[in-house]
Amino acid sequence: MSSEFVATACPHDCPSTCALEVERLAPDRIGTVRGARENDYTSGVICAKVARYAERVHHPGRLAQPLQRSGEKGAGEFRPIGWDDALDLIADSFVRAEEKHGPEAVWPYYYAGTMGLVQRDGINRLRHVKKYSGQDETICSRLSSDGWWAGVGTYVGSDPREMAKADLIVVWGCNPASTQVNVMTHIAKARKTRDAALVVVDPYETRTAKVADHHVALRPGTDGALACGIMHVLFAEDFADRDYLARHTDCPDEFEAHLASRDPAWASAITGIPAAEIVALARMIGRIKRTYIRLGYGFTRSRNGAANMHAATCIAAVTGAWQYEGGGAMHTNKSVYGVDATLIEGLDARDRSVRRLDMSRIGPVLTGDPSDLGDGPPVTAIVMQNVNPAAVAPESAKVREGLMRDDLFLAVHEQFMTDTARYADIVLPATTFLEHDDIYVGGGHMYLLMGARVIEPYAETRSNHDVIRALAKRLGAEHPGFDMTAWEMIDATLKCSGHPDAATLKAMRWKDCMPDFESAHHLKGFGWPDGRFRFKPDWTRMGPRGAEIPAFPDHMAVIEAPDAEHPFRLVTAPAHNYLNSSFTETPTSIAKEARPSALFHPGDARDLGFEDGDRIRIGNRRGSILLHARIAGANGKAPDNGTTHGQQRGTVIVESVWPNTAFEEGLGINTLTSADPGYPNGGAVFHDTAIWARPAN
Ligand code: SF4
Repeated sequence: MSSEFVATACPHDCPSTCALEVERLAPDRIGTVRGARENDYTSGVICAKVARYAERVHHPGRLAQPLQRSGEKGAGEFRPIGWDDALDLIADSFVRAEEKHGPEAVWPYYYAGTMGLVQRDGINRLRHVKKYSGQDETICSRLSSDGWWAGVGTYVGSDPREMAKADLIVVWGCNPASTQVNVMTHIAKARKTRDAALVVVDPYETRTAKVADHHVALRPGTDGALACGIMHVLFAEDFADRDYLARHTDCPDEFEAHLASRDPAWASAITGIPAAEIVALARMIGRIKRTYIRLGYGFTRSRNGAANMHAATCIAAVTGAWQYEGGGAMHTNKSVYGVDATLIEGLDARDRSVRRLDMSRIGPVLTGDPSDLGDGPPVTAIVMQNVNPAAVAPESAKVREGLMRDDLFLAVHEQFMTDTARYADIVLPATTFLEHDDIYVGGGHMYLLMGARVIEPYAETRSNHDVIRALAKRLGAEHPGFDMTAWEMIDATLKCSGHPDAATLKAMRWKDCMPDFESAHHLKGFGWPDGRFRFKPDWTRMGPRGAEIPAFPDHMAVIEAPDAEHPFRLVTAPAHNYLNSSFTETPTSIAKEARPSALFHPGDARDLGFEDGDRIRIGNRRGSILLHARIAGANGKAPDNGTTHGQQRGTVIVESVWPNTAFEEGLGINTLTSADPGYPNGGAVFHDTAIWARPAN
């Protein structure tokens, strides 16, 4: 058989959702993977992780058959078992849990190991039909989403392709060179054709910051103060578009009065950025009409992340940059697709009286924290798909303690033997996106994409959809979705959502769902009933802790501040060659990342007596871990902003998420992070951690 390239879409947890072309060498074998040139967002460019996907899909460590635990919990000892027996055991455990404690004792748990709508979200259909405990999906974008929504009132921003038409691009709280490579493609076009400038706001010198014209290396969690300092200057120096403000915003005069005391000197004291640098940045944003602000997911990892995100969204409303092509702001376009998820998720069977447990707090939930369980039953049975909380969830000591409980039955449906799967009673082998059908929507762009199966499933692997159907059958759960193949569900979902049917979308490969310019730029009104951007949102309507958020943008001082015992602030930024814990199994990614390490400012390293490469220990009251020190600027060229060496003193970066097993003592980075919920409505606070650091011995 000669090779051919087959169209599909990237399923990984990345806003780019690239249109892919996969070389099929045989019915069960792929070769190279490339980006679709005809797709004007992907533009033929994909990240190296996925370009070498053959290494992952044909990895010798892929789970090939169902396994049953044969040793102690967590020991990773298993024996093969047949599919029917494995599914029977899972169903029996669910029935027993329900008989003893009621259906809320069962907690189906999943997340974004695949972003396909059918294979990712179908587990909710079983949950809703059986009235199992709900999952509050806080772990990724809750805080940034809430912050964007607070001002804009809908999840739509300026067309990301317009970055190519901007004269200034501000990349704030994201590192697209590592985590959304296509953003760099459109920025490169703007720089080449318009001589556009790139400013990066990030606590450390990421790969994106390295190629920026200017890097603003603020202290972690101080974005709200920086935004206020910028807006103070915009108003004070008459860069505010007062006509636009009067027509499109809620209370600009009150907001201006509020900002009077938030001057650059005030912002400098909080952010660590010199006041003159804040003034210069504000003037650049004020003078350049076509300023495109790309707001990323870095915001979402801090207790005050929603307040910070909202403050940053206010900048484009003050300047009126929304009026110009190539101007405005963008966080996610998730409101543009209009996919009716009723069939996939069984929303017609949802009972809102059933409790929802915060997925970020899986450690406290499984260890019986009364603030999570209330009067409800303990969780005693779980099935997990596309998720690896033993490595990825905060307060991992509690996660581990919970997963070790003798009275907890855990089934994990996975592609590899992850940290979490090692704790399972039953492990089921899962297909990759190349081996099943699905559809995808891009958070960072505007395309709905078909992802039809490319090759035959490996060994005995089964798709998420098929496993949920099989469990539903054993559990007597009834819903039309359980009688459909994945393809039939895709077809029915597309049709009832007003999109082309499955066969048509497959032929089209993708569908552009971007609204027209005036809608995307909110010139016909923002998402609120009066159409006005909110400088003063009603945070109390957004979550139980909304009343604690300042009425206007500000520095919300609720972060885990450094103190004498914990003088450093830890940011667990994404590693270039990993994607959460995916790709931590592929040899090339592991070789490129080398080993877990903590990046220090040279001044801090000197004070601590650290040399580059030293074995060190970092910790706090939640635990401590061993890893190696890296010194900013120690290798390669020194960061260009010599005042900060790429990061402020007191900031420590550990690029993640390495498996726990990659650390000397088997304890990973989330040993140190907190499961505290962010404001106003929860959210994991991975970049909001105070730590100490010392030599290993
Ligand atoms: S850039 Fe993101 S969406 Fe594109 S191939 Fe890589 S992981 Fe997938």
